Amino acid sequence: MPENAPSTRVRTRFAPSPSGHLHVGGARTALFCWAYAKGRGGDFILRIEDTDQKRSSDASSMAFLEDLKWLGLQWDEGPEFNGSGGGDRGPYYQSKRLDTYKPYFQKLLDSGAAYMAFETAEELDAARATARAEKRAYRYDRASLKLDPATVEQYIREGRPYVVRFKVPDDTQLTFRDEVLGEVAVSSGEVDDFVIRKADGYPTYHFAVVVDDELMGITHVIRAQEHTNNTFKHNLIQEALGFNRPTYAHISVVTNPDGSKMSKRDKDKALRAAVREAKLDNAPEFQPGTDVTIREEEWAWWMESKDRQLNMEAVKALAEYLGVEVPEIDIDDFRRAGYLPEVMVNYLALLGWSPGENIEKFDRDFLIQRFSLDRIVKSPAKFDRDKLLAFNLDAIQAMSVEQFTDRLREHCRQFHPEFLEKLDDDAFSMLAAANHERSKTLEDPVRTCRFFVVPDDHIVYEHSKPVRKHLTGGEPSGFEHLEALAETLAELSRWTAEGLEHAISEYANVHASGKLGKVAQPLRIAVSGGTVSPPIFDTLAILGKQSTLNRINLCLAKREELSTPA
Ligand code: GLU
Repeated sequence: MPENAPSTRVRTRFAPSPSGHLHVGGARTALFCWAYAKGRGGDFILRIEDTDQKRSSDASSMAFLEDLKWLGLQWDEGPEFNGSGGGDRGPYYQSKRLDTYKPYFQKLLDSGAAYMAFETAEELDAARATARAEKRAYRYDRASLKLDPATVEQYIREGRPYVVRFKVPDDTQLTFRDEVLGEVAVSSGEVDDFVIRKADGYPTYHFAVVVDDELMGITHVIRAQEHTNNTFKHNLIQEALGFNRPTYAHISVVTNPDGSKMSKRDKDKALRAAVREAKLDNAPEFQPGTDVTIREEEWAWWMESKDRQLNMEAVKALAEYLGVEVPEIDIDDFRRAGYLPEVMVNYLALLGWSPGENIEKFDRDFLIQRFSLDRIVKSPAKFDRDKLLAFNLDAIQAMSVEQFTDRLREHCRQFHPEFLEKLDDDAFSMLAAANHERSKTLEDPVRTCRFFVVPDDHIVYEHSKPVRKHLTGGEPSGFEHLEALAETLAELSRWTAEGLEHAISEYANVHASGKLGKVAQPLRIAVSGGTVSPPIFDTLAILGKQSTLNRINLCLAKREELSTPA
């Protein structure tokens, strides 16, 4: 434990609702909570806020567990997942703590700090509408608080549904000290008697969070700035129940460079723009084998409003169909796009925090050592994709070829197993080595080297002028070189990059006046379909003899088609 560790053990918590993958903003919150606790010999707790019954805790809603793991943010207590979690202050799912909350509701009702309110949703809606029409702010009128005890008894006997509201004291200043924002205050007149228990018996967020933070011994609450005003309510409940008040730090939102909030909806926004551009009137039919369909009504509904989102699979299928890239928003998007977890951690830490001394690149240990709440800034944090990409490039370039190969292999194991199925260890290592220097992400080699893993007869030839020129131009033409090379290479026994270099250079000396490019480009086109690939000898060595010959023959068979302008 560091020397300056406070006497009470620091305990922070990250408390997401189960809503799928972790958004960058959530990841940054989790990272700050984790770094703060770890730098002080404390505990980082993960608690699942799943009392909103619309949300479920099925595997796909809990996908953020995998994202936290990937970032290396191990939780000391919380849901059990891949070796993390457990702990003696659980359960760590709020939906499993309903009995825990009961006595605390009772305590507040008994002391008069809270009361039952019987208004129906329709009555409350009507009161809100009236307030709107009269252009005044809506406040709950405390009608239920004015009921006499006998009427309350009678309503309960009748089985009328009710919520429990917290009675906010009149005419007082509510204040708390925030480690980022400083003193924050509001007059109690601006805080409505808020609901702490819903009609279905479930606690609201405000109530559950306060009871859980107390029972789990949370000392520091680090969370998004959108919760700042909730803290007044939380403090009121804490006081009424005689609980401790934790230290608070509310951190700013993460925005796009244009200042808009970085949101999962940005993906839909990009897709809608592409749909309009492509003048697509209806949902497309996706490739057979993709079991995604977007129904007509769903399509119309989605196109209509900028707030609407398609599900993850539909977003992916549509982006592929339109050939557009949607912006990465969730941690999983960055992972799939080939960013390294240590780079993500480094970059996320800089969103609203910095260690000073112009230091920008650091690892987890440094972050743990240096992280403190007083260096967090109040203003929104802009997410700069170019900078993140530059960090990723630098990290990849700083690796040895072996390290890069291992990381690429792991990335392919996760997301592109076809590379490992098609290429043996040596070929895969060659592919990694040939790509190392030009890769900004782990996905770059996958994107540019897909031709290696498609079946030989599935190669799609680019119908472009440069391709045509390389194949038909010259004397002898590219096609003629390919014909001759098919024979030369069929005879070649040493199928290595060196062996190929030797044989092909010799061929070029005799038949192309030593101009290797005249021979290399037609070969490259024949095996890859286009004019870009890793160095040609590596490319053929990775591909293997049989595939190389198959592809040269396929290209020759398409001679007529490839000689005519499209
Ligand atoms: N479930 C809340 C959220 O995801 C947690 C807020 C808090 O940390 O208190 O925003």
